[in-house]
Amino acid sequence: MYPNVLLHIAGTWRGASTGEAIPVLNPATAEPIGTVPVASRADLDEALDAAKRGFRAWRAVSAYERAKIMKKAANLLRERVEDVARIMTLEQGKPLAEAKLEIMNGADTIEWFAEEGKRAYGRVVPARAEGVLNIVTKEPVGPVAAFTPWNFPINQAVRKVSAALCTGCSVILKGPEDTPASCAELVKVFLDAGVPGDVIGLVFGRPAEISEYLIPHPVIRKVSFTGSTAVGKQLAALAGQHMKRVTMELGGHAPAIVFKDADVAKAVKLLGAAKYRNAGQVCISPTRFLVHDSIFEEFVDGFVQVSRSIKVGDGLQPDTKMGPLAHARRVEAMEAFVADAKAKGAELRTGGSRIGNQGYFFEPTVFTDVPLDARIMNEEPFGPVAAIRRFKDEEEAFEEANRLPYGLAAYAYTRSAETATKLGSVIESGMVSINHHGLGIPELPFGGVKDSGYGSEGGSEAIEAYLNTKLVSQAAL
Ligand code: NAD
Repeated sequence: MYPNVLLHIAGTWRGASTGEAIPVLNPATAEPIGTVPVASRADLDEALDAAKRGFRAWRAVSAYERAKIMKKAANLLRERVEDVARIMTLEQGKPLAEAKLEIMNGADTIEWFAEEGKRAYGRVVPARAEGVLNIVTKEPVGPVAAFTPWNFPINQAVRKVSAALCTGCSVILKGPEDTPASCAELVKVFLDAGVPGDVIGLVFGRPAEISEYLIPHPVIRKVSFTGSTAVGKQLAALAGQHMKRVTMELGGHAPAIVFKDADVAKAVKLLGAAKYRNAGQVCISPTRFLVHDSIFEEFVDGFVQVSRSIKVGDGLQPDTKMGPLAHARRVEAMEAFVADAKAKGAELRTGGSRIGNQGYFFEPTVFTDVPLDARIMNEEPFGPVAAIRRFKDEEEAFEEANRLPYGLAAYAYTRSAETATKLGSVIESGMVSINHHGLGIPELPFGGVKDSGYGSEGGSEAIEAYLNTKLVSQAAL
């Protein structure tokens, strides 16, 4: 059921030149299900040569033609949804329904970028002298090195690959070693649709070795990374030394503010669903719940009920609502967060433990009255643990929302138009969603501020990051 994962280099699927491969585990059982090759320096050199050739060829293809191929890829992904979803659940753990949604959204992303690539317009700027023509054009930036993580093996990769392809760039994708096969299925749909083999490379291996080689390499002109803030800062610094264009989509610690005039039932329902989606391993997951004192117990009771009702199990089972964590590192992280919160005096309302000793299952967990110095209030949890605090006045909530260096997503529930308008301006984050969860759609900007990174992975801003602006100022003879 689980495919043999290979590298894709210069149009060929193959193992590493050294023959080295590492195991891939099913997080529901912790048993090996396959292997992933570890690319060597020689493999990377071949991928770089291909990306250089691929860029020359692909930029010469018209945006219309590129869009046709990309739309075909989107349809192939839709046709293959059942098979690819099983692969994703096997290696990543999320329930099949979530895997299918990710894949269908991935197809929409490809289609949206395919269309938007046709609109990489330049402009003509009025000249100061007669006979002068000032033409501003947009050109593809060049071969891209894209680094993507394991939480959304398709969604994280598809945004980078689609933005690169629609603008005429070639791309070397360093996929996630924990969840490599669904990412490889994504690359296959592009190749099967007609993207030339040199235009997309797919490599896996030792992440630091690959990034340290690719980022400074003269062939690479643009770097895009999704992952933790700590790693993002290292890679951005390296890219800066070599003057490479960069997009960084890093960690978050999203405040979710529930005001006294909120529709509490709706807040419980939507925040509960968002919190436990992908077992909380989502960069825009609501993580710091700030609830007004007057509705605190009502919200907490509802949220605890939702948390207890979630069926945790193998994502392949049809009734599973939350799968295992993706790997052992996340279980260890959850255990450390829970122990620290308890030690600091937070009240555990439900959950708090690993489930069983097979696979990486963890209980949906709720803490209330969590002190600000608890680790969970300061570090991105990236797991199914909710930390809830109470507030008395609006300013207190805004201050807490903006306290951390993160600034990716923020959520709020209020019936007051005045509060909603204020939220939109005072919250320091790249995305604010009020009274619903409306983030992560291809046509909308997606990105953070402060330590959450820079650049956008959605909307027209995402395309701009893959284009150079060139001025040609030309006088009549
Ligand atoms: P990690 O920081 O080691 O890895 C995160 C991702 O970055 C992985 O895909 C990894 O392969 C890659 N990576 C790590 N070091 C790299 C390097 N030097 N060069 C290139 N790529 C590198 O941590 P992890 O244990 O996999 O995950 C833990 C934390 O990472 C989470 O707590 C979360 O904060 C963050 N994370 C964020 C996202 C996101 O969507 N923004 C996704 C996955 C992980």
